[in-house]
Order: sequence, then structure tokens, then C-alpha cells
Amino acid sequence: MTTSDPNKMLKQLTKKPQKMKRFRRYNLSKERSCGRQNAKCSRCGRTGIGGFVGQYNLRYCRCCFREIATRLGFKKYS
Ligand SMILES: [Zn+2]
Repeated sequence: MTTSDPNKMLKQLTKKPQKMKRFRRYNLSKERSCGRQNAKCSRCGRTGIGGFVGQYNLRYCRCCFREIATRLGFKKYS
């Protein structure tokens, strides 16, 4: 059984509470309240891996930052 999103399985397991409990315990990723895992790009929604620009409260991923940096007033010197 493979799914792209493990949360899809929860819908199937609504009628099997014991299996649901076990699935939640062993298969779902841990909910985190803080940290880099929760960093989400405010423009495209990309999460997790890759560069994340949180400085100056920008909250963009590296791709979005590259595209709109000049519009924000950043200059490229090299
Ligand atoms: Zn982005």
C-alpha cells in the first residue's frame, strides 16, 4: 500500500478505529509546532527542503526569492 499523501489513508480507516489508532501512531509524520519543517513559502507554498529566506520576515523559497528580489529592492553585486 503506497500513497503520495498518508493523510488520504485516514479517510479509508474511519470505520476501523483500532487500525486508525495504529496507523496514526506508526505511519503519520509527527506534528511539529516550530522549526524549519513548518517553513512554508508565502508565494508558492513550497515546504521543507531547499533554501528558505526567512530573513527580514520575507518567508519565500529560494526560487520565488530569485524571481522577485529585484522588485523588492535587492541588488545583485556578483
Ligand atoms: Zn516559493
